[in-house]
Amino acid sequence: MKLTFLGTAAATSYPLAFCRCNYCNQARKTGGKDFRKRSSIIINDDLLIDMGPDIMSASFMYNKSIADIRYCLQTHSHSDHFDASHFITRTPEYMGIDIPPLQLYGSEETLRKMSEMLKNVSDVNDLFGSDAKTKLNVEIFPVKTLQPFKVGKYEIVAFPSDHDLSVKSLLYSIKEDGFTVFYGTDTDNLTDETWYGFRELNMHFDIVILDHTYGPDADSGGHLNANRFIEHIRKMKSDHLLADNARILATHISHEGNPSHAELSKYAEKFGYEIAYDGLVI
Ligand SMILES: [Zn+2]
Ligand SMILES: [Zn+2]
Ligand SMILES: [Zn+2]
Repeated sequence: MKLTFLGTAAATSYPLAFCRCNYCNQARKTGGKDFRKRSSIIINDDLLIDMGPDIMSASFMYNKSIADIRYCLQTHSHSDHFDASHFITRTPEYMGIDIPPLQLYGSEETLRKMSEMLKNVSDVNDLFGSDAKTKLNVEIFPVKTLQPFKVGKYEIVAFPSDHDLSVKSLLYSIKEDGFTVFYGTDTDNLTDETWYGFRELNMHFDIVILDHTYGPDADSGGHLNANRFIEHIRKMKSDHLLADNARILATHISHEGNPSHAELSKYAEKFGYEIAYDGLVI
């Protein structure tokens, strides 16, 4: 399995467009790993998690073709995770030809919200209707939590997140050839139901990618911060959910309490995890 991080920032990118805090100023100076686009990831060449606003910029930079994507797992419909303007390039008006069909997965609530967002920028009125299927060449799959399903060669499980209950945000595990990744953003503390699912489904993660929106001792809710991130990893270890050499990576990083990549990485190393960066390939 090959993972490519297309973006690792929270909703506002990093640095923020109109912020002159020390962290944003530092990022403007150092660039490189300190420039973060909105969170999204590609597995191998065919599975995208979140059709976010920066996927094309990332595609140019990391040479990953979005046209080859066959499957999309959508965590939720917030605008930093779904940009309908990319989606509508699948319609005949954009002369998109010879693209493989796309299978789109998400909670029903998220898919309905995406449908509304799509309606605002195209003549596709209903993602669930037959015109979406013909115009977008897309198949829609509303996902139920804690019920494993197959997507191509991947075995997927969706777990509930308490991040935005109105769109029933989801977290995903993706398994290929006995290797399992957990992609856990956006989320506040993992819910009891999610921990229950980990145990009941005998989850064993080789890679955990988890929300790290707020840095050490910073916290504004709705997401994890560094302290609670570390507590979560400790619990995963004590619950025997991690492979012996599991890699733990932080993503969805905002300027709130998260210093430069180099400095944050030093902090993370002390606690046995890594900070992901845009373009990181595992
Ligand atoms: Zn987000
Ligand atoms: Zn800032
Ligand atoms: Zn969100």
